[in-house]
Amino acid sequence: MSDTIVIAELSKGKVSPTTNELVTAANELGSNPTVIVPCSDSSAANDASNISGVTKVIAAKSDVFANYDAAAWAEAIDSVAPAGIVITSASAQSKDLAARIAARRSISVVQDVIAINGTTLSTPIYSGKAIQNVAISGDAVISVRANVFTPSDNSGSTDVQVIDTTGNVSTAVKELVQRASQRLDVSEANIIISGGRGMGTPANFSHLEEIADKLGAAVGASRAAVDTWDEIPHSMQVGQTGKTVNPNLYIAVGISGAIQHLAGMRSSKYIVAINKDADAPIFQHADYGIVATWEEALPVLSSSLSSLLA
Ligand SMILES: Cc1cc2nc3c(=O)[nH]c(=O)nc-3n(C[C@H](O)[C@H](O)[C@H](O)COP(=O)(O)OP(=O)(O)OC[C@H]3O[C@@H](n4cnc5c(N)ncnc54)[C@H](O)[C@@H]3O)c2cc1C
Repeated sequence: MSDTIVIAELSKGKVSPTTNELVTAANELGSNPTVIVPCSDSSAANDASNISGVTKVIAAKSDVFANYDAAAWAEAIDSVAPAGIVITSASAQSKDLAARIAARRSISVVQDVIAINGTTLSTPIYSGKAIQNVAISGDAVISVRANVFTPSDNSGSTDVQVIDTTGNVSTAVKELVQRASQRLDVSEANIIISGGRGMGTPANFSHLEEIADKLGAAVGASRAAVDTWDEIPHSMQVGQTGKTVNPNLYIAVGISGAIQHLAGMRSSKYIVAINKDADAPIFQHADYGIVATWEEALPVLSSSLSSLLA
């Protein structure tokens, strides 16, 4: 079996818990991985040094990691990552990076892995309607879906080697101007509450945010919501052409349940749907369905949560 290399997933400059799941995936492939932390401040790598089942942690330090750019990141990571099976998360950015690294190394890429059995990897295809089993031999890059593998615990202790990769890249994005968001990203969240066109106006998403704050959830959206309202950014879109999510709880509010939306969230552990139309397709996939307008249902949910959490 080839060596394994985990590219740590970072959120707001910190190693995110998804990285622990990637380490478990590496362990299932038969080896304790080298974890590479792409960072502009090498102290970010200290969090990864506690993860159990890790051979080595490399802080790949460079200013290029301040802003995502597929070419620069792949070039810098490629310069420090040993040969082997490279494992990334299946967030939109990391899937992009996985493909870049695979292209640089002329090796295969397998995206959105949900199970590992020896050297056979399972990935959903046809919008999640079928599962494809792919056998790998030799080096490859694989991206692993979040919330599938049990995270490795943090009882380990591994030294961190800092390697400055700044000189190894030819181009880099210096500044990215983007809308600031303090909110949790849907691809990382364990609980998601998403709104669709049925929310009526983008201002009504504040009702979803209020519940999200109580639950520690992320707020998502359907493509219809994102396309209709400039105020709802594309980063919130769940579905075939948006983000694939796999939370424990997915609450769909004013979302019809089109096949393209289901493609991104149907593997959620529990699905709750709130829709005024009893025939909306989302109810065929929901564990709990509430036939009501959100105007009726959300205040009740909000006040129930307040008394539950008081
Ligand atoms: C190639 C392609 C890719 C696509 N990719 C995606 C994707 O990634 N993600 C995605 O989401 N879609 C995607 N779509 C679009 C998809 O087909 C649907 O058009 C979209 O999901 C519909 O969004 P919606 O459910 O919010 O809107 P609608 O279909 O308009 O449904 C709104 C729902 O809200 C309900 N409602 C209305 N008012 C209220 C109220 N007051 N209270 C409660 N319920 C109410 C209605 O009963 C209805 O069921 C894609 C389409 C194509 C062709």
